[in-house]
Amino acid sequence: MTIIDGKQTAAEVRAQLRVRAAAFEEKYGRKVGLAVVLIGEDPASQVYVRNKIKGCEDAGIRSFAHYLPADVTQAQAEELVRALASDEAVHGILVQLPLPKHLDAERILACIPAAKDVDGFSAENIGRLALNEEGTVACTPLGVMELLRRYHVETRGKRAVIIGRSNIVGRPMALLLLNADATVTVCHSRTVNLAEECARADILVAAIGKPNFITADMVKEGAVVIDVGINRVDGKLIGDVDFAAVSQKASLITPVPGGVGPMTIAMLLQNAISCAERAMR
Ligand code: NAP
Repeated sequence: MTIIDGKQTAAEVRAQLRVRAAAFEEKYGRKVGLAVVLIGEDPASQVYVRNKIKGCEDAGIRSFAHYLPADVTQAQAEELVRALASDEAVHGILVQLPLPKHLDAERILACIPAAKDVDGFSAENIGRLALNEEGTVACTPLGVMELLRRYHVETRGKRAVIIGRSNIVGRPMALLLLNADATVTVCHSRTVNLAEECARADILVAAIGKPNFITADMVKEGAVVIDVGINRVDGKLIGDVDFAAVSQKASLITPVPGGVGPMTIAMLLQNAISCAERAMR
């Protein structure tokens, strides 16, 4: 059994991204620019935004941080995003979610043009993924694909089972694996016989948000198990997979923390660079 080292893999990816960001700067005389918008004071969001900005610095990407107070109006928030959309120094725009309840997140996100949508959340980018066309793909599922690739996991013809169908993880994950020639099953809270579906998987991706939900009896001997879940239990981070038991059966498995998580920011930086490169084509 091999434990997939997401931290080490993310460090390798980030080293390569530094080279790409530097090449962009050399060629065009300015840095790749990523705007990060944080509205309100949600403590978890503050940590995520801080890490994303640090990630930019480390990669040689210029970050434009915009902090708006929690009581900002819908019009003010949209105005900022529209201004960033027409700013040539900004190649990618990220609005940290969740937003304060009085704001309509969909309308704010709709102000981000698809070409600057570094999170890959827009209907256009999800449509491109569904059509297997070039576009920006959501960072977390993209990070999973990068882990599979770097650990030489064959996807073609394999049976992949994804538990979770959210727009940011499960759904794009299913499309990516389908595009990579896997035979894909998507499970969710209405799935009947979930354990049976899971036990057929060569590649099992858990994106549920329930600690230790996937137990050893749900996993085939030799399966590749990817745990996207991040659950805080008694101050500790726990995945959706019962790691101690499932790791006895899996051939490859991601730990939590240190598996999928570190790849997400690396993919955000990669998406920002790709948006910048595409903008110059
Ligand atoms: P979400 O929007 O809450 O979606 C959870 C999915 O799990 C839903 O599709 C839901 O089904 C399904 N589900 C819930 N209970 C289930 C059950 N008992 N049996 C089968 N399916 C069930 O969550 P998310 O945003 O996709 O995130 C999933 C997990 O990944 C969370 O722990 C989150 O913290 C983590 N996450 C990690 C990263 C990272 O960087 N590593 C990034 C994003 C998210 P329905 O659709 O039927 O409700």
